[in-house]
Amino acid sequence: MHRLYENNDIVVFWNSDKCFHSKKCVTGSPKTFDINRKPWIDVTLADNAEIWQTIEKCPSGALGVLFRHGIDVIMDQDNNRSVAFDGDRVIGECDYSVSESGWNMYHTEVFEEYGGKGIAKRLVYKVIEASEKNHVAIGATCSYAAKVLGE
Ligand code: SF4
Repeated sequence: MHRLYENNDIVVFWNSDKCFHSKKCVTGSPKTFDINRKPWIDVTLADNAEIWQTIEKCPSGALGVLFRHGIDVIMDQDNNRSVAFDGDRVIGECDYSVSESGWNMYHTEVFEEYGGKGIAKRLVYKVIEASEKNHVAIGATCSYAAKVLGE
């Protein structure tokens, strides 16, 4: 299961398939990671430094964290894509096709001047997360999306 959690400053990535339940996150930032709560991750309850340092100690790679850089990433399911915005300006998207066998991410692009900020990963994660919430199989012919899917 892939999920994204955001506050004004950071984005946390969670891939349950990789977690081996060492609970370092739960002890490192108990307000953020609470296995008795749904959703079990809430990135609004502790300061960012604590969350960041805790995630860096995750031994499995199930958790990841990046700065938001003021960029919003949303799902636009009506148009089969996730979209990144800098204010009102579209600065990237991940497009997928829909068929009986599921969704296929075939194109991921972020404007060059926004490179190196992890926006493409957020775009792909957003589509993966949406596919899982919709109980639809997900694949990728876009090589970047396939890499994120396989991480
Ligand atoms: S620290 Fe990482 S591996 Fe351990 S429970 Fe948390 S997410 Fe899972």
